[in-house]
Amino acid sequence: MPEEGQSRVIIRARALVTMDGPPIENGAIAIEDERVVDLGTFDEVSARNSGELVDLGESALIPGLINAHCHLDYTCLREKIPPPTSFTEWVREIIAAKNALLPADYVKSITDGFAEARRFGTTSIVNYEAFPELIIRLQPPIKTWWFAELIDIRDPNRAENIVATAMNYLAQPANRGLAPHALYTASFDLYRICQDNARRYDWLLSTHLAESPDEYLMFHDGAGPLAEFVREIGGKEKKSSGSTPFATLLAQIALDRRWLVVHMNELSESDFDLLPDSTMEFHIVHCPRSHDYFGHSPFQYERLRQFDLNICLGTDSLASNDDLSLFAEMREFARKFPGVAPEEILQMVTVNPARALQQEDHIGRICLGGDVDLVSVPFSGRNVFEEIIAFTGEPGVTTC
Ligand SMILES: [Zn+2]
Repeated sequence: MPEEGQSRVIIRARALVTMDGPPIENGAIAIEDERVVDLGTFDEVSARNSGELVDLGESALIPGLINAHCHLDYTCLREKIPPPTSFTEWVREIIAAKNALLPADYVKSITDGFAEARRFGTTSIVNYEAFPELIIRLQPPIKTWWFAELIDIRDPNRAENIVATAMNYLAQPANRGLAPHALYTASFDLYRICQDNARRYDWLLSTHLAESPDEYLMFHDGAGPLAEFVREIGGKEKKSSGSTPFATLLAQIALDRRWLVVHMNELSESDFDLLPDSTMEFHIVHCPRSHDYFGHSPFQYERLRQFDLNICLGTDSLASNDDLSLFAEMREFARKFPGVAPEEILQMVTVNPARALQQEDHIGRICLGGDVDLVSVPFSGRNVFEEIIAFTGEPGVTTC
């Protein structure tokens, strides 16, 4: 039997950024059995442990990043759709592009997407999967939360069946959820069935909401290009309620802590009046570069933050983005919100999404007993959070 501390690996870096307290200069962690078992300054950790030393030199060691929203199905659509004049035009374009793809194309797309995300330091990912039957053919190299993306626009009578089939395909993966796609493609019944099942089986939930002005017009006025498009494809139209997309969903569903609500770009003053309701504990996912690509209304970060909502970042798909780098998302966020501290921005790809995924003790921070999901970036000793946000290359990645 090895002595206690004998079989450990010690990793040292100029800065250890745990996201669980101030960064530790000349810090180190000890790893054993795929868990972080010690951390502190290098002197402390090396006095308490022995084993192989990995010295990362002039680097900052940070938790692996967590992408709270993407669609790896569409990795192959990078640069295929130029920025559109309206969201509805983009919907038409992506449907046309999808019609040319076969299951093997999607498998390659998802596999390539996983590799790219990992290369950019992402060690956990929330993936909307439009074809959950493909999951069995895939071997994710990083932690993956599979959310079955569900649509019943043409046949809401089949909502029950659509959810049951998807749940069957998601029987295997450990981390899973249900994602009624959006208010304009999923019936209220579909939303309710997803919510009931998620509560019964302890799954997570996600949906796109209040993404575009077209969606706002469709629900508020029963008009506009998206309303026309839904009519055109024979979709069962929801009656315009004169209310916003957010208020429309809220009238049907209690947005509790299971929900990762993606976008929330188009919000009215009346929506902000609804937010103080303390029963709302949902999480928001903002996709900075996809937001910029569509030219959506400014994301109301400062106002939303006042309501204690947990805000995370995602890349969305490569049908509206250049790559799957969360460092690039952080840089875009910093460009739009120069007043927000870099540490707060890093929280949006670490501790915040870990909380949304109910994984605070495992990922998103470097902590005792936590998973070994680590990323290292060069650090010159100036300002560690600023340098992390400004990092443009491919970081070092260590996972167990
Ligand atoms: Zn999306």
